[in-house]
Formats: sequence, structure tokens, C-alpha cells
Amino acid sequence: MTQRILEPGQIEQLAAHAIPRIRLPDRAQLFARRAARLRALAETSPIGDYLQLCAVVAEAQHAALADFPAMLPSATQIETVQAHRMPPIPAADGARAKPWRDAFATICAAVAQAPRLPAAATQLAARLRNAGRDELEVLADLVLGARGGEVDAAAAPFVMAALQVNWVALSSRFVADQVRSLDVPGLCPLCGSLPVASLVAAHAPYAGHRYLHCTLCACEWHMVRVQCSQCSASGKDIAYRSLKAIAANDTAADVSAVRAETCEHCHSYRKIFYQEKDPAVEPVADDLASIALDLLLAEEGYARASGNPLLWQPAD
Ligand SMILES: [Zn+2]
Ligand SMILES: [Zn+2]
Repeated sequence: MTQRILEPGQIEQLAAHAIPRIRLPDRAQLFARRAARLRALAETSPIGDYLQLCAVVAEAQHAALADFPAMLPSATQIETVQAHRMPPIPAADGARAKPWRDAFATICAAVAQAPRLPAAATQLAARLRNAGRDELEVLADLVLGARGGEVDAAAAPFVMAALQVNWVALSSRFVADQVRSLDVPGLCPLCGSLPVASLVAAHAPYAGHRYLHCTLCACEWHMVRVQCSQCSASGKDIAYRSLKAIAANDTAADVSAVRAETCEHCHSYRKIFYQEKDPAVEPVADDLASIALDLLLAEEGYARASGNPLLWQPAD
């Protein structure tokens, strides 16, 4: 019987070919990068005012995250939960620490005091800043879908922003190799939330691979390309649309950094961003700034598979 032994160098080669499944957010960078991208996109956007507001929110998130305490479950708890293919820091069971309300106050104070924002936004932030504990916990449950009822669409982005700080403080402390996938490929393996969009990475060891970006904890998980992230259909059901290609009436030579991946099976779409075409793309910021593409796809009868955390859209 022959025994196959790997030659020196082959192990490294194999490792280089393995696709990293998980990318975790960098606490020092995530919200600062998002804020910078929002400001850059605001320059030329028809919704520039809203992007400027979101940039102020992202800067406040960055500040709030810096001294946010992270209360991770114990290693044993994480192991037990992951062994059952469940997310270890689930969004829906209220696993949020009290300091999320401090993050909320920081964000509202930043918006209330920011110059050159629409008066409606600064007045709302000033009012929300004084919201009581019970009101905030109800808002958080509604935004996370943990209780039924009407969400206040104007307040929701502020609540979501504070909850993101809570969850990124947790997700960024995991070790990527130790995060196990769930049975449902379209859900975040850490918190069980839906992705806001996906990104095709340009840099090693992620280059050329597609990652879904979690709307809440910013964890990114690998999913093969040309597959619907909502219903898993693939092949001829999947197509790509961009504003440029639609305007030029030429989808064959689409080189846009921002496209929508549409699915004929479930008639939904999520956007997909190509870092190779634009190294600065950022899933939350670019998704928000490309709202014109959403309007176009809505006209064509496609439904958004999930919303943007900074723009509350009631479900159909
Ligand atoms: Zn997540
Ligand atoms: Zn689908």
C-alpha cells in the first residue's frame, strides 16, 4: 500500500488555495472607513444630504466603539451553541449589553450638534437623545424584529447604528478560523442577521472571492459567486445589472463596481460590489448611495432581499 505524503511546499500551496470562509471587522477601521466613503459619495449624490447625515452617524459609531465594553459569551458557551449550528451572538434574543444605550446617546448627540445637517434630522436626534430606557429597548426589539409592531422609520437608523456598535464590539473579538457556518448560507454565522450586500474582494488571500456583509455585526462570510444569496438559485437564473450598463444598453461588457445580482427564481436582488473596480467600495455606504439602482429594479418588479441598516424600509 502506498502512502501519500505531501512534499515540502505542498502544504503551503494547499493552504493558499483554501478560501478563507470568514472575514471579521476591524474595530479601528470599520466605521471610520464607512464615514469617509459616505462623505466621498455625498459629493456627487442626489441624496448627498442624507449621506452626510449617515457620515456623522458613522463617525459617532467609531467614537462610541472605541471604549465600548465587549462582553463575549464564554468559550464553552460559544462552542456549545456553534455545535448546534446556532449563531453565538444572536440578534433576536436581546443579547445586547446596557452600554448600547450609551452608544445611542453618543450618536444622537453628535447628530444634534453637527453643523449643516437638515433641521429635521438634528431636531429628531435632540429628541431621541432624551428617550428613556424602556422606550429604547422597545425600539431596539422592533428594529431587530424581536417583537411585532410598527417601527418608527425616522428613529430606526439611529437605533440600528447603536446596535451595530454593540454587535461589532463582539464580532470583532472572534477568531475567524473558529467561526462555524450555519446551515442557512444566507445568514450571518455570528448573529444570524441578513446581509446588506456582498463584496468581491481584490486582495490576497480573499482576492476574487465573494463575501456577504452582515447588516448588524459586519462579519463577512464566503459565498460562491453567481448564486442567489436569498434562495440559493444559481446558473441562468442569476443576472447582473448596473446603472451604467442599463444606460448604455450593454450588460455584456459591464465593468461597474456597483451591480445588482438579480434572481429570476425568487425575483429578488442584492447588490454586489467589486473591489477590483473601485478599491474604496464599502457595502453599507455604497448600497445606500446607489439608491437609483434600487428604484430602477423596483420598476422592473424585483424586490430588495433585505434593507440597508441606515435607511429603514418597511417590508412589503
Ligand atoms: Zn452578523
Ligand atoms: Zn433567488
